[in-house]
Amino acid sequence: MIKLPIYFDNAATTPVDKRVLEKMTPYFTEIFGNPNSQHVFGRESVKAVDNARDTIAGIINAKPNEIYFTSGGTEGDNWALRGVANAYKDRGKHIIISPIEHAAMIETAKALVKEGFTVDFMKVDGEGFVDLEHLKSIIRDDTIFVGCMMANNEVGTIEPIKEIAAIAHEKNAVCFTDAVQAAGVLDIDVKDLGVDLMSMSSHKIYGPKGVGALYIRNGLRISSIIAGGHQERMKRGGTTNVAGVVGFSEAFKIANEEREKNFNYVSSLRNHFIDRVINEVPFVKLNGPDKDKRDKYRLPANADFSFRYIEGESILFSLDLAGIAVSSGSACSSGSLEPSHVLLALGLPEGLAHGSIRFSFGKHNTMEEVDYAVDEIKKAVERLRAMSPLFKIEGDKKYV
Ligand code: PLP
Repeated sequence: MIKLPIYFDNAATTPVDKRVLEKMTPYFTEIFGNPNSQHVFGRESVKAVDNARDTIAGIINAKPNEIYFTSGGTEGDNWALRGVANAYKDRGKHIIISPIEHAAMIETAKALVKEGFTVDFMKVDGEGFVDLEHLKSIIRDDTIFVGCMMANNEVGTIEPIKEIAAIAHEKNAVCFTDAVQAAGVLDIDVKDLGVDLMSMSSHKIYGPKGVGALYIRNGLRISSIIAGGHQERMKRGGTTNVAGVVGFSEAFKIANEEREKNFNYVSSLRNHFIDRVINEVPFVKLNGPDKDKRDKYRLPANADFSFRYIEGESILFSLDLAGIAVSSGSACSSGSLEPSHVLLALGLPEGLAHGSIRFSFGKHNTMEEVDYAVDEIKKAVERLRAMSPLFKIEGDKKYV
């Protein structure tokens, strides 16, 4: 018997792993000291934070003093872009980011334009891959920052970060990557990639919400965006979230130890899902990397489909009624029902961009859940298309 509701929104957030929660618990009640305090309670907390820093640094091949704890990916993205823009503005005011970045980057870039910076976007192709030749053609002597996410949260495309970093460094620009969706899922070595900054978040990998880290290469100049106490080597004020940091490092440690197992398991669910949807649901488009690239260039958890002739929200609500939690590409949370900026950047027409649904699988999902979801998708799509006037006119034409 299948247990409802089913959670297929693991790219939005994940439940805290019980082992992580267990590790965190004493830091709420027993080892509660402020790491800034000069007594035994403080020292115990410092020990925990130092251990967490060592663990996270070790996993990504950084030095412990290159790890700065933050409140999550949004803060890391804001800090990287704004902090570098402020610190390097005497050298230049040109910034390049990808058009499929998270809102944390896009909105920070927009704010910097108002402050006199220029922002250009590197092109992506129809599958979401950055066009490296285009990047080479737009990078300038006054480019100070090149930023591209390691893997896209909506369509799962895994980007060529090492190549992007090499292009940035040829022009002495700082290279940043948002690894919020990739950290704990892909094998990451910051030194091998050559990035100067990398943001990470805990709640995508079965850790607690509201905590993450920014890797800042030693020697890089960066301004603070949160003024306050002396925490994080004078760079980020605010009493350290000790329990959160402990939880993040434990979640990262577990994710790293179980990475291959989870990668294989989650991608087997995802591949079965993609195959069934493509074979059994007419007029669908798999957004992001093509099917034959899915094992290498798409996040293992990700399947993003546009269902032609139907609004994404209608499918989302139908699936919610059937006990299946997914996410739609439209920014409905803003109340605007704007089509996804990611899908538009990939060149999808508005109609298809509006009809997209992201399914993101996790280590707690099962094949039975996947099969149940496909059966429910088929029913929902058939019912919704029966009500679509556009489908009645065009539905018999083969969609390619
Ligand atoms: N960057 C990416 C690619 C994300 O997917 C997210 C969260 O969805 C964020 C940044 C923001 O991270 P956080 O929720 O930790 O602020």
